[in-house]
Amino acid sequence: MQFRIPFVDLKAMHAEAQQGIDAAWNAVTDTCDFIGGPHVEAFEAQWAAFCGSRYCVGTSDGTAALELALRALGAGPGDDILVPANTFVATWEAVVAVGARPVAVDVDPETLLAGVDDFAEAMTSNTVGIIPVHLFGQPVNMTEVVQFARGNGLWIVEDAAQAHGSTWNGQRAGSMGDIGCFSFYPGKNLGAFGDAGAIVTNSEFLADRIRSLANHGRAKGLADRHDIIGNNRRMDGLQAALLSAKLPFLVDWNARRRKAFTRYAELLADLPVSITRQMPQATSSCHLAVIQIDHRDAVKQALADIGIATGIHYRMPCHLQPAFQPLMHKPMPVAEKAAGRILSLPMFPHISEAQVQDVVAALAEQLLARAGGFSHAAE
Ligand SMILES: *Cc1c(COP(=O)(O)O)cnc(C)c1O
Repeated sequence: MQFRIPFVDLKAMHAEAQQGIDAAWNAVTDTCDFIGGPHVEAFEAQWAAFCGSRYCVGTSDGTAALELALRALGAGPGDDILVPANTFVATWEAVVAVGARPVAVDVDPETLLAGVDDFAEAMTSNTVGIIPVHLFGQPVNMTEVVQFARGNGLWIVEDAAQAHGSTWNGQRAGSMGDIGCFSFYPGKNLGAFGDAGAIVTNSEFLADRIRSLANHGRAKGLADRHDIIGNNRRMDGLQAALLSAKLPFLVDWNARRRKAFTRYAELLADLPVSITRQMPQATSSCHLAVIQIDHRDAVKQALADIGIATGIHYRMPCHLQPAFQPLMHKPMPVAEKAAGRILSLPMFPHISEAQVQDVVAALAEQLLARAGGFSHAAE
């Protein structure tokens, strides 16, 4: 289906970075460094510097980054790991993949993020670590979460897969916990041309261990000695080179997303809509612009009918997904209620003021009609 206003526009980003993208492709085909090698090393150094972390290890994708992080921290059977109910299912998959148990954590009704009170409430006696998720690009209050984790002897793996460049008190998402995990899935704020991911950390031990786990358990610098049981979760040279070509644009692209988000918030202020609350200490990457409304599914369909694409992130909280039913979870009233009301509006760096106004006007018409504001039947 062709939308008048798409949900995301990747081609406009590629057009801006075209020169670097062409050069990246040529550089990789010239040297044939297809897996690991200088292109991956260069991007790892750039990404570590961008995040303000000491080390970065490129991975095959974001889900692998999370799984490797948990493995490197030694998480396994018998361990509970606290994860928000409202996140992409990959956060939960990584926990199950290492044999640990995901324990659902409810979220704040205004930010839709799991914060320190939610983590504290979900604590179990077997909890070894927590995974704060900077969902929609909004950073979690890491000042509180770090203090809570340190006080309880827990490690922190940040799921920053939607939060490239987001900051909390000036510190970049991914750099505040023990390990930060990123996805460069094409639709993320910094997207590859296929799957890719990375971890960042200040721990040389964890970085080395993750690099080894992702590369068949190879010992550092030794191609034919395998000290631990690893796997193949490496980053492609081509993806790394393309990411390096796009990285110089990320700060500007995020600023343009934030401008669109702010306009949405201003224009929606008088409507029966709540847009996720932004905290004053935070700078969001504005990966998604999420509102909560009544009659969500009908409104979504009505917008699609006039050519406006929207999304839902996510329609069902993880703890209610059939795959996770055997684990048995407590009810998560906030996440469950929000799941039926959330709608993600078109959001990408090149969205125009006219497009934002168009989306809000269409939304206003739908909401007011349904709220009885334009009801002619009552006359
Ligand atoms: C995209 C995403 C992931 C997984 O990343 P992939 O690269 O698709 O494997 C994990 N967590 C969150 C919150 C995400 O949005």
